[in-house]
Amino acid sequence: HFDVSRPLLQRLLAGEGKRTLKAVDGVSFDIPKGTTLSLVGESGCGKSTVARLVVGLYRPTRGRVLFEGIELETARANAETRRRMQMIFQDPYASLNPRWRVRDIVAEPLRAFGLAEGAAALRDRVGQLLTQVGLSPLDGEKYPHEFSGGQRQRISIARALSSNPDFLVCDEPTSALDVSVQAQILNLMKDLQQRLGLTYLFISHNLAVVRQVSDRIGVMYLGRLVELAPAETLFTAPRHPYTRALMEAIPDLEMTGRKRIPVGGEVPSPIDPPSGCPFHPRCPLADARCRAEMPALRPPEAQPATMVACHAVEERRDPAPAPAGADQ
Ligand code: SF4
Repeated sequence: HFDVSRPLLQRLLAGEGKRTLKAVDGVSFDIPKGTTLSLVGESGCGKSTVARLVVGLYRPTRGRVLFEGIELETARANAETRRRMQMIFQDPYASLNPRWRVRDIVAEPLRAFGLAEGAAALRDRVGQLLTQVGLSPLDGEKYPHEFSGGQRQRISIARALSSNPDFLVCDEPTSALDVSVQAQILNLMKDLQQRLGLTYLFISHNLAVVRQVSDRIGVMYLGRLVELAPAETLFTAPRHPYTRALMEAIPDLEMTGRKRIPVGGEVPSPIDPPSGCPFHPRCPLADARCRAEMPALRPPEAQPATMVACHAVEERRDPAPAPAGADQ
């Protein structure tokens, strides 16, 4: 059970003015064991910062990250916890050492955590891991440049799995790949989740991708979580105007019976965020309250499993409130 409590602040010094940028604020979620929570949003929305906070690469200036109820910093002091949490990065070209053979790349965590005694056991385990991700044990003799992008991501997954983790943070793991290869990697990840009981935090800018892998989806905007819902509910009954705008960008997605909310403009600078609701400069439903008051994340009427941060939803003045029992 993973819990990131709010508010998490990642303080960064920005430019000459030395102003503080809250990269992530007011983000709170948990991930039950064996499930996938995805965070989506445009570039700069803070989703990758959350991923790095969750695996301990960044420290929150306020707020807490808990792993099985234990503060992350305390938990990570224990090698056993570090073994159990691994990360898969977007770019398999950059994250694999080009001078190492694949067998050494995959074996590194096995050595680091003392998980295979002796050369024969190490070789056998590396062979098993390569087979598990759809490669051949013979591929271990090759170097990363001899593989395609999809195969390199399979190698990254084999390396991440080599320490027998239960929790994987996947930061845009298919974004650098062609669409057909993306589907293969997503299928592999779903299959591994079922077979090994893995828990995923999945980060992506692409709602169509996360739909395939998620139990729940969180939508982020300017460092804040604006909607969090069961995956299918988010697609059948999206509530936040920004979530609806993201949906409209997906070709062929049926929004039967739901009025579209047109959204224009650009994402404002996180260094100088708008007052009140950060989405108000782009939102056709914005009113005086939106410009003055930050909306809290709370369940809308009749959707107890959904959380939305929007005054219009709370006041039931969004165009098509969800039917009763829309949560699935
Ligand atoms: Fe739009 Fe207001 Fe809702 Fe923000 S709080 S998304 S500005 S209606």
